[in-house]
Amino acid sequence: MTIQELNQNNDHFTIHNLPYGVFSTPTKSARAGVAIGNYIVDLAKLFELNFFDGIIATNVFAQDALNDFIALGKHTHLIVRQKLQTLLKEESPFFQEYASNFIYKQCEAKMHLPVRIGDYTDFYSSEEHASNVGKMFRPNAAPLMPNWKHMPIAYHGRSSSIITTNTNIKRPNGQIIKSILEDGTHEIIYSASKTLDIEIELGFIIGKENQLGTSINTGDATDYIFGVVLLNDFSARDIQRWEYQPLGPFLGKNFATSISPWIIPYEALKEFLVDAPTQSTEVLPYLQEQNRKNFDIEITFEIETKEKQKGIAAVTNSKYLYWTAEQQIAHHTVNGCNLRIGDIFGTGTISGKEKNSFGSLLELTWNGKEKIKIGNEERTFLQDGDTVILSAVCKNEKIKIGFGELRNMIME
Ligand code: MN
Repeated sequence: MTIQELNQNNDHFTIHNLPYGVFSTPTKSARAGVAIGNYIVDLAKLFELNFFDGIIATNVFAQDALNDFIALGKHTHLIVRQKLQTLLKEESPFFQEYASNFIYKQCEAKMHLPVRIGDYTDFYSSEEHASNVGKMFRPNAAPLMPNWKHMPIAYHGRSSSIITTNTNIKRPNGQIIKSILEDGTHEIIYSASKTLDIEIELGFIIGKENQLGTSINTGDATDYIFGVVLLNDFSARDIQRWEYQPLGPFLGKNFATSISPWIIPYEALKEFLVDAPTQSTEVLPYLQEQNRKNFDIEITFEIETKEKQKGIAAVTNSKYLYWTAEQQIAHHTVNGCNLRIGDIFGTGTISGKEKNSFGSLLELTWNGKEKIKIGNEERTFLQDGDTVILSAVCKNEKIKIGFGELRNMIME
């Protein structure tokens, strides 16, 4: 094993990235690791080799979730990151002697959920997405609800059904409208969802807690973000449509939400902050920002069918989001709600302006009216045996990092 081998052949997990995850191998129990190239660095083993002496007192890496490491705070994360960058950039006697003890091939490891997730909140922060859905579901009204430009809208999701890559999803059953009768009553059946969809989102992993009864300012909000994952909010549109009014998402959403296994540190993503869209309506002081920024993260959504046809369904970018992560955090806590380490904030479906940048099949096929091509097959919504693949990259003139892949197959 040489430093050169680690830094080759994978432009997602470069030295500028160093994302955190939890992995196991056939002989090692679940533990924390950092991805570099096509390999994983075993942080629990590095601790045993006294690599973190003077920085971390107990082996927070020798467990199946990153929460205790995250709780050590940004200052410690920064020192750990700098030490790892030095270790993985240049050959050293320590590396030469011990590398074979703490480096594994990613292809031989199984990835787990990286954090214990207490609460999961899903926002609705893309103006393009909210407008598209409004046009489809409320065709005779204004696309956006009157409150939409005054606050980042969200709902509280379910954390027990959050899964990660390579976990299959069973097609959900539920109540579905069969027909609407002449007198306006609905004929309802119990059925497997026929309009199973995805939502392209990012998930912010909360890295710091606020006390119950206190709130977080937009100016301090980034201190509360440990890192970012890809998030696929699987959605059964037919179940959702019947139950949606007037309360909001429930069984149409809570059967599966998938997050990518590698958490990209905020520190790595800082390089890719760009100006967020100007807000067209003035917001209350607690939501105002000196400097509105979004991440420039290009996200690709692909489908691979049972017959091995593969195609890109959409490419979008988180820089389009109307409400920033800072505003989401400020709004979530303005009433004194406390955030906990490991909580996840979904951005909501990320749609761009162009049709091929819409973040759900609902929008890409305009509610199933227009088919999209996947190789020599066509799709409106997902079929059994389809694998959904989300991936994302960030690049500028100097560096590139990526999120790896988030893959989930639909089962009957
Ligand atoms: Mn969503």
